[in-house]
Amino acid sequence: MIQENLHEVEKIIEKCKTGCSRIQQNDVKLVAVTKNHDIYAMREAIDAGVTAIGENRIQEAIEKNATLERNVEWHLIGHLQTNKVKQAVKIFDLIHSVDSEKLAVELDKAAEKIHKVQDVLVQVNLAREESKFGIYRENLPDLLAKIDNLGNLRLCGFMCIAPNYEKVEDCRPLFHEMYEIFQEAKEIAFKTANIKYLSMGMTHDYRIAIEEGANIVRVGTAIFGQRQY
Ligand SMILES: *Cc1c(COP(=O)(O)O)cnc(C)c1O
Repeated sequence: MIQENLHEVEKIIEKCKTGCSRIQQNDVKLVAVTKNHDIYAMREAIDAGVTAIGENRIQEAIEKNATLERNVEWHLIGHLQTNKVKQAVKIFDLIHSVDSEKLAVELDKAAEKIHKVQDVLVQVNLAREESKFGIYRENLPDLLAKIDNLGNLRLCGFMCIAPNYEKVEDCRPLFHEMYEIFQEAKEIAFKTANIKYLSMGMTHDYRIAIEEGANIVRVGTAIFGQRQY
C-alpha cells in the first residue's frame, strides 16, 4: 500500500508543479512524514523511493535512527526544545522549526561542538495562531540577521503550517504571502545564508502549497495512512 500511495503522491506533485505559476528552479522535495510509524513502514517507503523523512520528536527519531539501516535525509519538522539541541544536531540534516534567537544560539553551540554546519529553516507563524509555534512576521528580519551571524548555522529558508481551515482553498492566500516572504529574503545580502527552501503543505493542502511555490512538502497520512496514537 505504501508504495502505491507514494507513487500517487509523486504523480500529484508532478501535476501541481505544472500548475505552478511561479518560476521554480528547484524540484519539489517530498519529505515523507514518518512520525508514529515504525521502521518497517519507513524502510518500505525508502525502498520505494523516498529520499527524505520527517520526524517531530527527538526521542522517537533517535531510536529509529539507530535501527533504520537506510541512507536517507533526516528532517526535523516539529518543535525543538533547547534542552534537546545536542541530540538534534547529531541526527538531522535539516531542522525546519527554528523560531527564536535563543534556540538558534543553542543550536549553533551544539553544532560547533560536533564541527558541523547545521542547515535550518525558520518557522513562521503567519496566521498568528496562539496554539502554534513559529515566529511572527514582524520579528523575522531580526531573527534572520541573527542566524546569519551564527557561524555553525546555515539559514536555508522557511517553513510554515497553515491553519486547519474548513475549506482547504482558504490557505492559498497564506501560502502566497509566504512565497513573497521567501522571494524577498532571497534579495537580502546575507553573509552565509542560502535561501533556497520553502517548506509548506501537508496531506490536506500540499497541492495548493506547490501551486503557490513550495519546494518542500511534508506528507505523512497520504503515504502511510492514518496515524495510531
Ligand atoms: C505531522 C506533520 C505533517 C504531516 O501531516 P499529514 O497530514 O499526515 O500529511 C507535516 N508537517 C508537520 C509539521 C507535522 O507535524
